[in-house]
Amino acid sequence: MPLDDYEPVIGLEVHTQLDTKSKIFCSCSTRFGCEPNQNTCPTCMGMPGSLPVLNEEALRLGIKVGLALNCKISERLKFDRKNYFYPDLPKAYQISQFDMPVNGPGWLMIELKGADGGLVERKIRVHRAHLEEDAGKLLHEGIEGASLVDFNRAGVPLLEIVSEPDLRSPEEAYAYLTALKAILQYLEVSDCNMEEGSLRCDANVSIRKKGETKLGTKAEVKNLNSFKAVQKAIQYEIERQAAMLDNGERVVQETRLWNDDKGQTFLMRSKEEAHDYRYFPEPDLVPFTLSAETVEAIRKTLPELPAARAARLAKNYGLSAYDAAVLVQEKPLANYFEDCLKSKANPKMVSNWIQSELLALLNLNKLTIENSPVKAEALAGLIALIENNTINGKIAKDVLPLMFETGKPAGEIVKEKGWVQVTDTKFIEEIADGVIEANPKSVTDFRAGKNQALGFLVGQVMKASQGKANPKLANEILVKKLQPQ
Ligand SMILES: [Zn+2]
Repeated sequence: MPLDDYEPVIGLEVHTQLDTKSKIFCSCSTRFGCEPNQNTCPTCMGMPGSLPVLNEEALRLGIKVGLALNCKISERLKFDRKNYFYPDLPKAYQISQFDMPVNGPGWLMIELKGADGGLVERKIRVHRAHLEEDAGKLLHEGIEGASLVDFNRAGVPLLEIVSEPDLRSPEEAYAYLTALKAILQYLEVSDCNMEEGSLRCDANVSIRKKGETKLGTKAEVKNLNSFKAVQKAIQYEIERQAAMLDNGERVVQETRLWNDDKGQTFLMRSKEEAHDYRYFPEPDLVPFTLSAETVEAIRKTLPELPAARAARLAKNYGLSAYDAAVLVQEKPLANYFEDCLKSKANPKMVSNWIQSELLALLNLNKLTIENSPVKAEALAGLIALIENNTINGKIAKDVLPLMFETGKPAGEIVKEKGWVQVTDTKFIEEIADGVIEANPKSVTDFRAGKNQALGFLVGQVMKASQGKANPKLANEILVKKLQPQ
């Protein structure tokens, strides 16, 4: 059966580290990059007799995310012990939330590029988002015949955000993660750094024949350490499961690991070996009630979120929905855009220059917008030179990389290089005469109604002027000269 006849059903579980100074149940620091086991105490090491105390800041940040994801915030909260034995879990149980999570059902809007270049919106339901503590980390590198354990991460606050299986393609999964990350960034509840483990994702993937409503058997894929990896792993699973079904095999429920180098998923454990967590209420943390006033007070602290910001940018500055959506995906990018406008630059031009030229240069140099050598004011300066006809857009594309390299303002580079645009009509007319004389075939073609020939002739004028002619003027002059006499 062709791949197109199957419908993928995807759900994502995202673990995000909440940005608190201390751990979720003790006062140890959460700082990254400390000496192994520097940030530990009897409570996060699970010593007998130690008592956990809930970090209110972690709860507050968790509720903020719930509110931003349109979740129903629970009135009654409880913590539970999730029991399993693993070397990096000092207590042999993890404090998590089982049946009374802080955040109940909600939803998140994702945007995908439609066939017409516009945006298509899809509402993805969020099943729940609950608080839990992180485990430690095993160290194997450079150690022969043994493993060492670093418990600095043990007890770091996590929020596990579980989606409903509403996603239907790897692209939708990517869009969901991008939208979720943007919200977390805007809320300033997490640094969302995947390399440091602040954002982790597992994907549940199954497929079924199109038109069918019954869910297929799913595989859970772990070890996904980038959004691209999530997308690739899901695509791999769809193809693997489709090939099995085509061969008359049965997909079995199992947990698989993604290997990014090989571009494949591998069996980690089958259902038979799956954990039975034997959840039970955490006796050292009593259930408690959250007042409506507390929740409302937190709601009042919510900042402008990505969707609202995109709508505002589109409305105020006449941007397309697509451009606005790209700009708000990363909060620093949207800030950069608005900083450029402080110099009264044309918003559409700023948006285009950021999205095409600047982002390309940043990607090429593996830099983020926050450490861009070309600051917002400098980019606005470059655009001002185009707007006042000092340089044309083509020259500007050569100026930007030099600004990037040298940190000099656009005006200085243009002056040094002698790139000031020529708007001297007589000068352009002389060049145009030469070009017309040298290209009789194009002239005949243009006069015979072939409009592409004009583009070629304008190009020749630009070339002869070393890119300095004003292209609009060159165009006008040529058209006038080529008019039948
Ligand atoms: Zn501790």
